[in-house]
Amino acid sequence: MVGMGDNQRVPATVTRRATSDPVLDAAVDLARAAAQEVAEPGQVGGHVGFVLEQDRLGTHHFTCLVPGYRGWVWSVTLARVPRSRTATVCEVVLVPGEEALLAPEWVPWSERLRPGDLGIGDLLPTAADDDRLEPGWLASDDEEADRLAFVELGLGRPRVLSFLGRVEAAERWWEGDFGPHSPMAQAAPAGCSSCGFMVPMAGALRAAFGVCANTYSPADGRVVALDYGCGGHSEAALVPGSRPSDAPRIDEVGFDVVRARPDPEHGSVSETEPVEDLGHS
Ligand code: SF4
Repeated sequence: MVGMGDNQRVPATVTRRATSDPVLDAAVDLARAAAQEVAEPGQVGGHVGFVLEQDRLGTHHFTCLVPGYRGWVWSVTLARVPRSRTATVCEVVLVPGEEALLAPEWVPWSERLRPGDLGIGDLLPTAADDDRLEPGWLASDDEEADRLAFVELGLGRPRVLSFLGRVEAAERWWEGDFGPHSPMAQAAPAGCSSCGFMVPMAGALRAAFGVCANTYSPADGRVVALDYGCGGHSEAALVPGSRPSDAPRIDEVGFDVVRARPDPEHGSVSETEPVEDLGHS
């Protein structure tokens, strides 16, 4: 007899999971027949293996011979009721194996979009909470833009560029083809800031950018960094070149070079004889 205070711990009931199921394991032919019923003729290959998912529930795998599905397997799940020796088919599916070719993870179109993707007639809706924009009636940190917005009141720009939108645009233009790091800018005699073809911009961005209005420049009509520049600089003829010019290069592949006057160190003509100009005998 056990009195109060002599309580003893009751051992927990331990449910052991089965590690094998000979009935399901042996039902390969049943599983194969189920897969062949779903697949087209000749699309079910050899038996790959059996996995016991849990008690009385297991899956047989067969090689998939469907063209274009290399590495996939037919997966046939079987089950049986307790104390039964009859396996039944639960489902047949095609699943990717370890070496299966899979499509890349889907990416929404809004994240796939790249600069330059917008074509003629395309519409690109801007999200209502796009961080690059803010309501036009909000005062921004750009005084000149605010003044313009005030002038525009009633003309209706519901949203204007936000601080983030300006920063992103400035970074893009600065690092782009018309920024100071481009090869053209590196070889230019001077920057756009001193060029007569540079049209200043309005707003806060004018401190670093302008618009090129030189029809001969590759930047004509484009936003240029003030540190960008090209050979069409209005004062290019007055600005000293950035490096001395090399000797002229002549393509000698298509013809022979003939000296107009004899080489004093070679040939049979005496240095003491008077030299005649070409075209005279
Ligand atoms: S012509 Fe050349 S230097 Fe002048 S604004 Fe245009 S890009 Fe700049």
